[in-house]
Amino acid sequence: MQLKVAVIGAGPSGITALKNLLDQGISALAFDRNEEVGGNWIYSEDESHSSVFETTHIISSKTLSQYEDFTFDEFDPEAADYPSHDTLRRYFQAYAAKFNLYPHIQFGTLVEHCKRIDAQSWEITTSKNGLETTETFTHLVVSNGHHWKPRYPDYPGTFTGEFLHSHNFKKAEPFAGKRVLVIGGGNSACDVAVETSRVSKSTAISWRRGYWIAPKFFFGKPSDKVAEGTKWLPVKVRSFFNELLLKFFWGDYKNYGLRPIQEPFGATHPTINDELMHKIRHGKVKPRMDISRFEDRQVIFEDGKTEEYDTVIACTGYWLSHPFFDKDFIDYSSGPVPLYLKMFHSAYQNLYFIGMFQPLGCIWPGAELQSKLMAQELIGNWKRPENIQELCEKEVTHPHYQQVNSPRHTITVDYHLFVKALKRELSKASVTKKSPRVSQSEPVST
Ligand SMILES: Cc1cc2nc3c(=O)[nH]c(=O)nc-3n(C[C@H](O)[C@H](O)[C@H](O)COP(=O)(O)OP(=O)(O)OC[C@H]3O[C@@H](n4cnc5c(N)ncnc54)[C@H](O)[C@@H]3O)c2cc1C
Repeated sequence: MQLKVAVIGAGPSGITALKNLLDQGISALAFDRNEEVGGNWIYSEDESHSSVFETTHIISSKTLSQYEDFTFDEFDPEAADYPSHDTLRRYFQAYAAKFNLYPHIQFGTLVEHCKRIDAQSWEITTSKNGLETTETFTHLVVSNGHHWKPRYPDYPGTFTGEFLHSHNFKKAEPFAGKRVLVIGGGNSACDVAVETSRVSKSTAISWRRGYWIAPKFFFGKPSDKVAEGTKWLPVKVRSFFNELLLKFFWGDYKNYGLRPIQEPFGATHPTINDELMHKIRHGKVKPRMDISRFEDRQVIFEDGKTEEYDTVIACTGYWLSHPFFDKDFIDYSSGPVPLYLKMFHSAYQNLYFIGMFQPLGCIWPGAELQSKLMAQELIGNWKRPENIQELCEKEVTHPHYQQVNSPRHTITVDYHLFVKALKRELSKASVTKKSPRVSQSEPVST
């Protein structure tokens, strides 16, 4: 059978899916609503798919944030330990150029609807400049990202000041002179609080629980490189050491006015931030409890404190969303996500998810390995296990970390265990009979 694969998205996950399909001589076409490669990492001040800020730097260090087929040493040996969003955008675009992916990407094209006809065919409906097209593909790869559909908090009452989600936060200047309240304790929340505090009249941060905050450097090294040294230990033991190290590093959270941490390390997604604690101790960011309710411009916190704010910025995460599927076909928005290796569906063999996992680390090295495994399956070099149904269920019942029950925690993986599992499967693939790569002159036409 002649394979013809559709890939949704040309972000960091979609481009590695495309590259690895083409490498095995498989015809593939990626669709992206954007006009360039890079997904979330294309900074834009307009409302768009992108949600990085003007000042965003990656939270994992460069050697743990690179494709094995295109390292930072090859791209830019002088790249910083934690590159900026602009360096990353250029890195992804250089990857796409190096592997000649551009002729295989249709930009400015929104995938509207995907209908699975049978085990060999999909009907994919796209729109470009108002023109709808429906075409048949044999396989579908979903790499549409999971940081683009804002999830808003639901508190009683109404806040009548300015209210926005971190998705719409681009830079600090618009908040100059304002009284800002940031909701959340994740990476975006802590970054937004630090940034607004540079220009605001006042900035406060409201936490509904205590969060583990890890600095970007330990002992002069990127902290994920330090943690990598213990990757051979069981997750529970690693978590125990991480807790010890962080308690030793920061001391008691009471000294910062922050609510104490109740859950073990890994039970909620840890936050990587060097500056928040510094800003708190300098009085630039004020810690606050959870919100009980809004009354006009007033915010009433659970400890009874009442304060007036001009702006509330909800950094409360994103929904997992696949609007191109019928809801009764696939809907993972509130979990669970029963996919083997977060990519294989037990019933639909011609459907793959790439990059739909949340590591305590970087996404695209894992997405690259998933892509390689997908390509090996498609050329018949690797077979999915016969007990795939059971393995899919196990992903839900035996996660790497026992996490707090929330929509944010349905796709968490431990970076090292996840990479190891993918590499183990790849090592089972028989020696690759490499087909000639689909060349620039043979892009899939639509
Ligand atoms: C502020 C911020 C900081 C972050 N920092 C980190 C970090 O430090 N490390 C990390 O690993 N991750 C980080 N992330 C997460 C980020 O999403 C991933 O790094 C990465 O972008 C995931 O790549 P992706 O290709 O899976 O998804 P995306 O980057 O979201 O790319 C998906 C692509 O699919 C396209 N698309 C989606 N739907 C459709 C459709 N229906 N039709 C056509 N095209 C479509 C989009 O236009 C986009 O180009 C951060 C996210 C944010 C918001």
